[in-house]
Formats: sequence, C-alpha cells, structure tokens
Amino acid sequence: MDRRDFVKFAGAASFAGLAGCATPAPSRARVVVVGGGFGGATAAKYIRLWDPSVDVVLVERDAGFVSCPISNLVLGGFTSMREISRGYDGLRRHGVQVVRDEVTAIDTAKKSVRLARGGDVAYERLVVSPGVDFMFDEVQGFEAAQQAGAVLHAWKAGPQTVALREQLERMRDGGTYLLSIPLAPYRCPPGPYERVSMVAAYFKQAKPRSKVLVLDANADVTSKGPLFKRAWSELYPGLIEYRGNQKVVAVEPGAVRTDFDTVKGDVLNVVPPHRAADIAHKSGLITTNNRWCDVDWRTMESRAVKGVHVLGDATLSGPGMPKSGSMANNHAKIAAAAIVQMLRGAQPEPVKIINTCYSFVSEKEAIRVSSVHEWDGTTLQPVKGSGGVSAARSEPEGTFAWNWAKTIWADSLA
Ligand SMILES: Cc1cc2nc3c(=O)[nH]c(=O)nc-3n(C[C@H](O)[C@H](O)[C@H](O)COP(=O)(O)OP(=O)(O)OC[C@H]3O[C@@H](n4cnc5c(N)ncnc54)[C@H](O)[C@@H]3O)c2cc1C
Repeated sequence: MDRRDFVKFAGAASFAGLAGCATPAPSRARVVVVGGGFGGATAAKYIRLWDPSVDVVLVERDAGFVSCPISNLVLGGFTSMREISRGYDGLRRHGVQVVRDEVTAIDTAKKSVRLARGGDVAYERLVVSPGVDFMFDEVQGFEAAQQAGAVLHAWKAGPQTVALREQLERMRDGGTYLLSIPLAPYRCPPGPYERVSMVAAYFKQAKPRSKVLVLDANADVTSKGPLFKRAWSELYPGLIEYRGNQKVVAVEPGAVRTDFDTVKGDVLNVVPPHRAADIAHKSGLITTNNRWCDVDWRTMESRAVKGVHVLGDATLSGPGMPKSGSMANNHAKIAAAAIVQMLRGAQPEPVKIINTCYSFVSEKEAIRVSSVHEWDGTTLQPVKGSGGVSAARSEPEGTFAWNWAKTIWADSLA
C-alpha cells in the first residue's frame, strides 16, 4: 500500500469509537484479533509482517500462551510447563498491541468488540480464533465433579495439566487411570492416544502394576491407529486396555457411566465433546450443528457474518482437515494474507496449506501424520497422493516433533 492508497483507505474507513472506548479511534486500518492461541497469535503477527501500516490489537484473556502440543509429555513427566509456555512480548516487538482482557460481545453492525473490563474496541476487520469450549451438558455430573477436583479434562493446557500430573503422581501403584474420548470431531484427533502412551510410559517406569483404561466413544482409534496400537503392544504389554464404542454419559464418585456400564477409575480424565468457544456462540458465528463456524476457505471469512474471519478449532473443518495447532497456524496465514489484500481493495488468491501432527509414543519416539489441502473451487480438499503417516515410530521422528513444536511456537509468537 503506498501513501496515497493509505490516505484514501483511511479516509474511507469508519472508525467511530464508542462511548468509553478502551482505545482511541484509530487513524488507520485496525484489525482486532480475539484469542492469542495458535490461530490468533499467528494472524496478529503476520498481518503486521505483511502490512506494518495496519494497527493490530490482540485481545487474550490469559497472561501467556501455554501449548497443548507437547503438554502430554508434561503428564508423562518428560518435560515441564515452563518448556511449553511462552509470553506475548514477541508479538509486541512486531507492533501488535496485546490487551489482556476477555471479549464478552461482538457488535457486528457497529464493528466493535466489548471488553470485560470495560470499553469497546472498533475494528475494520475482526479475526476470531477462540478455540473450543466444552459441552458439559453431554456428561451428567461433570461440572460438579470438576469443581470438586474429582474429574479433569486437561484438554486446554494450563492448570488442569498440572492438576492431572499431580493426580497421576499421587495415584497408588496398581490403580487405574481412566481416559474417556469424545466422538470426533474433537480438538487434535491423535492427542488422546498420545496421552495414553505418555501415561503408560510413566506407569511403566514408576507404577508398573497400574493400568490405563481407555473408553473411546469412537469405534476405533481415530488417527494413526496401527502405529499407536503397535507401540502399545510392543512397549506397554498388558498395561493399556482399549475399549471402542464407549461413550461416557455421566461422572459418578470414583467412576464414569457409559450407555452400558459403570466403570471405576482412580484418576478420571474425561474429555467432554466440544464446540466453537462461547464468544463464537454468542456472536452468531456458529453455522453448523450448533457447534462449528463455516468459513470461506479462500479468506477464512465467516459464512454467517461479513468482515469477521474465524480460525482454528472453532471452524467447521474442511474435508480431512484435523483440528490442530498446525492447521490453526495455516488458517491464520490464509486470513492474514486475505485481510491485507482486502484492506487494499484487492481480491485474495486461494492458497494451499499443509498439516503435520506428531505424537509421542514413548519418551523419545514419535509418529507423524501429514496432509496437503488445496482449493477446488468450493473448499480446501486433501491433495490426492500427498501426505501419509510414518513408516514406523522412531527417535528421529521424536527429534522432528520437538523441532516442529519449537518452530511453530516461534512462528506464531516470536
Ligand atoms: C493434549 C493436546 C495435544 C495436542 N497436540 C497437538 C499437536 O501435537 N499438534 C497440533 O498441531 N495440534 C495439537 N493439539 C491441538 C491444538 O492445541 C489446537 O488445535 C490449537 O490450539 C487450536 O488453536 P486455536 O487458535 O483455534 O485455539 P487455542 O490455541 O485454544 O487459542 C484460543 C485462545 O483464545 C482465548 N480466548 C477464547 N475466548 C476468548 C475471549 N472471549 N476473549 C479473549 N480471549 C479468548 C483463549 O484463552 C486461548 O488462548 C493438541 C491439543 C491437545 C488438547
């Protein structure tokens, strides 16, 4: 954008700040980003990289970023919370204004977001990458049990990751760790099976008489099934019991209830089904099954609300597309490029994106699945013959997994 375009654009744009505005009305294009996870942080950074004349305000409720990828290794005792946590100073260095607050409402007519601590922030374009929230109603008794510390999901990395690790450490040798997996689609298809592996690896070292019991609402392991099952039978014989088609419908003291059975466990780790996070729900962005937000995959613009781009886990996934940090990071780049183009009055071009998900199956060995997705005139489709899974688990894949994590943390936040 040259200076003449910029003046023309700034003059045409409407930035009427509302009464009690938390930030002054901008004199140039402003993009507000809701959520500083994989999607939001990457979008904020890349908009600034690709057009430093755009004001970018990122609103995130938490003080810092804690990565879900690699968080299962914390549960196994193989890394620390410190290792998977990052601050937002890297984004500030790119000129992103990081506001620690919660967006409580989006006024799509006035083009502004409301902050919990008071005030509205006007935007020209809005990016919403709020992740998921849980459908607690689907698991009777979950919320009360969670408040009492009797059940955890630990499916958002943070305090629950720490609490679950502590429960595993306190559990007697000979006890049962019970993990319940919701029906797909859920955040990170291979994530639960990596968690099974990490807890089994810990038990093998520290509590060999203990058991990992998996109640999966899906008929079978949903991702990298043969590789996970081979690792379980070779590395942890007799330690893991996997049961498919076991949807947990209630939590009771020291047990969960499925449609058929009551199953006891010493540590209860129930992951309830999820949907796009509350702010998407409240703002009319949800389009499908009362759960997910459909988007135009050329721009990530919402199919329900113009001027709002939805990224990451909150989206109605395209064909064969997992809900992953890798995908959220790619969605963010589609959105950032499109927004920069659209603010200039240009037509965004569709782009090809790649997903890679590594999963650890032991302290050092990992397995991988990858895919490539390309615009077919309607949506992003997996490219035939691209991607695939690792031939076998290996330590080099484990090294690649750590390198992937460090690279994506830096790409999103540094
Ligand atoms: C155990 C586990 C392991 C995983 N492993 C992998 C892996 O190996 N590879 C991989 O690619 N993916 C992995 N994932 C998936 C990955 O974490 C998610 O897909 C990714 O975090 C999605 O990014 P996002 O931006 O959509 O949401 P998030 O990263 O969850 O970010 C959402 C952010 O928005 C903030 N927020 C929400 N609402 C508001 C609001 N109203 N106001 C202000 N802030 C708000 C939240 O605080 C949060 O910081 C894993 C997930 C889990 C649970």
